Amino acid sequence: DHAVIMEARHLLLAFILLTHCLTTTMWWVAGSWLGLSRKAARHWMLASLANGMALALPLLPELGSEAMRIALASSLVVLGATSLRRGLQFFLKLRLTDVMHTVMAVGITLFNITVCLRLGWYTAGVVASSLAMCLVLGRTAKETFQPLRTEFNAVTAWMHSGMLSLAVAVFAVVAITGMTPSVHWPWRSWSSEMSEFIFAFASVAMSILASFVLGYIVVMRLVRRLEHLSHHDALTGLLNRRAIEYLLDREDQRLQRFGDPYTVLLVDIDHFKRINDRLGHAAGDAVLCAVSRTLQAKAREVDRVARYGGEEFCILLPHTVHDGALQAAERLREAVCQINIPWGDEHIAVSISTGLACADAPGETLQALLKRADEALYQAKAEGRNRVVMAADRVNRSRQA
Ligand code: GH3
Ligand code: MG
Ligand code: MG
Repeated sequence: DHAVIMEARHLLLAFILLTHCLTTTMWWVAGSWLGLSRKAARHWMLASLANGMALALPLLPELGSEAMRIALASSLVVLGATSLRRGLQFFLKLRLTDVMHTVMAVGITLFNITVCLRLGWYTAGVVASSLAMCLVLGRTAKETFQPLRTEFNAVTAWMHSGMLSLAVAVFAVVAITGMTPSVHWPWRSWSSEMSEFIFAFASVAMSILASFVLGYIVVMRLVRRLEHLSHHDALTGLLNRRAIEYLLDREDQRLQRFGDPYTVLLVDIDHFKRINDRLGHAAGDAVLCAVSRTLQAKAREVDRVARYGGEEFCILLPHTVHDGALQAAERLREAVCQINIPWGDEHIAVSISTGLACADAPGETLQALLKRADEALYQAKAEGRNRVVMAADRVNRSRQA
């Protein structure tokens, strides 16, 4: 029986060292080489290291007296939890709670060294550390839930706070057991090797789970950022051409399948070259940003505004055609006319020309629709700019032809 327990301890030790070396290395690589959330990754690397050492220490009798090892492990576990929390505070840009962390880490360490080690009173040390763990992890769960839910989704927030709550529950059981020596909890009938083994195993599982959950949110943030970059224009923040082409394609499929009509606006800034030539590229960029902001603000929530080319925009109006679309286009044109950009001593005024084409019946290709909108835009320019021209209907046109 004794031999079996020894065997299991060595296996557990090997498992702890292996997994924590892996997670520590993973965070080191993430923070130092890949530059993923550097500060947070460094904190989580430290947390992995502290957790691994804290978990291994009780299993290494060769390293010294039991009281000393337990005291050290208790301090390391609290250090790991505060490091985990501080990393999350960096990651989610929360307020740092360094005063609390310092007081807690120093307090627990001093308590372990001065009181518990001297008096051989290490249950008190374990209870104090467990209470500290409950406090730190509980607060972490509380302060990170909403930010995680906002940035990612409810599932991620629940998964993360669920993991922390599980850890709080385990440490609460340890603390309560230590504080109530006379109560006969069911687990008191287990052998001490057995309960230590179960506690160690639960702790290892939670520590690995924590690294996985944190790794998941780091990767998820990266994926979201890349997704955003690939769909948005760097200068104006509007959707880019790739994104609007995808949306147009989907809208077109909806028209072909369900007959849902839509309208495309091609917008081009008037005499933009003059602004660039006279006031410089920076002024041109400022005008592009101002026009983008106006178009985005004045379009409906369901409308999609994209930067289509240099100073051209493409706007998709779902479920809107003819008079409605014309009104929307006029509203945008008027709003752009109101723009007044202070630049040096003068104010830049700007106007746009818009070509409008409605897709109100299946059968026309997207290319043909865009060609109609482009021709209408060309006509708007030819007729004197600062105006909206609606392309002739496809049906009428084919009758005329
Ligand atoms: P029109 O009224 O006929 O549209 O005249 P325009 O001067 O606006 O027409 P044109 O298409 O010839 O000029 C567009 C200019 O936009 C050409 C290019 O130098 C400038 N441009 C394109 N992209 C950018 C950009 O990202 N920033 C700046 N500042 N200028 C840009
Ligand atoms: Mg132009
Ligand atoms: Mg142009």
